[in-house]
Amino acid sequence: MTASGDGVGDSNQATDARDETSAGTPDDRSRMGNSATAETNPYRVAIAQFDRAISFMPNLKTGLIEFLKRPCRVITLDFPILTDDGSVQLFTGYRVLHSRVRGPGKGGVRYHPDVTEDEVRALASWMTWKCAVVDVPFGGAKGGVVCDPKKLSQDDLRRITRRYISDLGDNIGPHTDVPAPDVNTSAQTMAWIYDTYDRLHPGRNNLPVVTGKPVGIGGSLGRDAATARGCVFVTKHMIRRGILTARSSLRDARVVIQGFGNCGAHAARLFVEEGARVVAVSDSKGGVFSDDGLDIDAVLRQKASTGSVAGTDGTDPISNADLLELACDVLVPAALENQITSANAERIRARLVVEGANGPTTPEADEVLERRGIPVVPDILANAGGVTVSYFEWVQNVENEQWDLSKVNAKLERKLTQATDQVVDQRRTLAEQLPALQAQIEAAQHKRGHRDVPTLSAPSLRTAAWVLAIGRVAHVALERGIWP
Ligand code: NAD
Repeated sequence: MTASGDGVGDSNQATDARDETSAGTPDDRSRMGNSATAETNPYRVAIAQFDRAISFMPNLKTGLIEFLKRPCRVITLDFPILTDDGSVQLFTGYRVLHSRVRGPGKGGVRYHPDVTEDEVRALASWMTWKCAVVDVPFGGAKGGVVCDPKKLSQDDLRRITRRYISDLGDNIGPHTDVPAPDVNTSAQTMAWIYDTYDRLHPGRNNLPVVTGKPVGIGGSLGRDAATARGCVFVTKHMIRRGILTARSSLRDARVVIQGFGNCGAHAARLFVEEGARVVAVSDSKGGVFSDDGLDIDAVLRQKASTGSVAGTDGTDPISNADLLELACDVLVPAALENQITSANAERIRARLVVEGANGPTTPEADEVLERRGIPVVPDILANAGGVTVSYFEWVQNVENEQWDLSKVNAKLERKLTQATDQVVDQRRTLAEQLPALQAQIEAAQHKRGHRDVPTLSAPSLRTAAWVLAIGRVAHVALERGIWP
């Protein structure tokens, strides 16, 4: 196991001056190497999003900014597994703890062949800001194992999970760092995580060590659909707040969804329940389209029987690239990062993008969409329903309680509606303060002898959400005081 970290003590470097925004610290830039210039490096994306928000926060001190930007711990594990085919294979796993300022680290575990340290760093930091936006008392963390679940048996995946968790040892725990599901991990994976941790720590209530568990072993009712349900609550409330002209509800809205896993498949069903027409969905093997609206039950049956939505009766095939460019009211990317980039942003014809996935839109694409007047509801708000119900599950586990589904969903709706209001209001406040902020930044830069002063552009919903989140974490960091 290798671990690197920035102790809280290292962060107490606050000065009165704040650097100009940059794509990461010199250390970040050298570590990212050539990939620092690649549009699709997730960590570069996360840093660029952070820097854009920070440009609206001239009063935050440099040392604090660096502390908030960087993960406080990165763990890399290499471990062997005897797989069902009789071979011994070496796997690499990561667990990144970005922040514990507002509570225990919280974040999913991803199994995918393309998992990288930079991806896990980015996902961990997005968790910090997501928990802060919806105001749940967790920090941010994320894990991943580089593996292709499609080429592994269930027994292989169980062995990988147990070895990964036992090698992490006490770097996870009910009050320190709490995993959850993400791409290619499920309630079954969470059951293995719980069982492994419980065997290593017998004789106490270990249920809160992981969320997204099966309901029979402490999982919360409503957790399976929570990410998607949250997306729908946020979209509905954004529409109520006037984000789509001439539309007051989701009734008859044309919706397109990329990804048909936990987030995408539940979202398709729930958007239809709201009266929307889901005209296209896809997974990694292909997509399906029907202008009249898909029969989502039929698509679910097709996915269950063949492993893909492709080929559902009564639908036309569509590629993932074409699906993203369909004309629609709401586009929900719910698969992986980097789906809307500078390569296709000019061709997006959605009226609203709601980020079910983490990091589906690059900063370069954000700029294009902003210029074209297409609002993006950012991931740290749009998909925060999952972590919100994970928090509810954690509370139920600590109290040895189980809430009914109606209570879970009502509390989820309240949290996400409130967070949506706060993000919309934050954007308005930032827009109103723009001239004063610009003057403040210019004065500070001139005082330091800098002539070139960046011009602030109108804040997007993403920037507003980040400013809200960073402000909340910074406030708590200063209230707690920099250790020692
Ligand atoms: P999942 O593994 O259940 O589903 C992923 C889906 O994406 C699958 O249908 C897969 O076929 C599809 N997919 C993969 N690569 C694709 C590609 N190149 N093109 C089109 N489709 C592709 O994962 P999930 O839990 O639904 O996660 C999806 C996204 O939502 C991820 O970004 C994840 O981080 C985010 N998210 C998930 C949760 C959660 O609670 N599960 C919470 C918040 C955010």
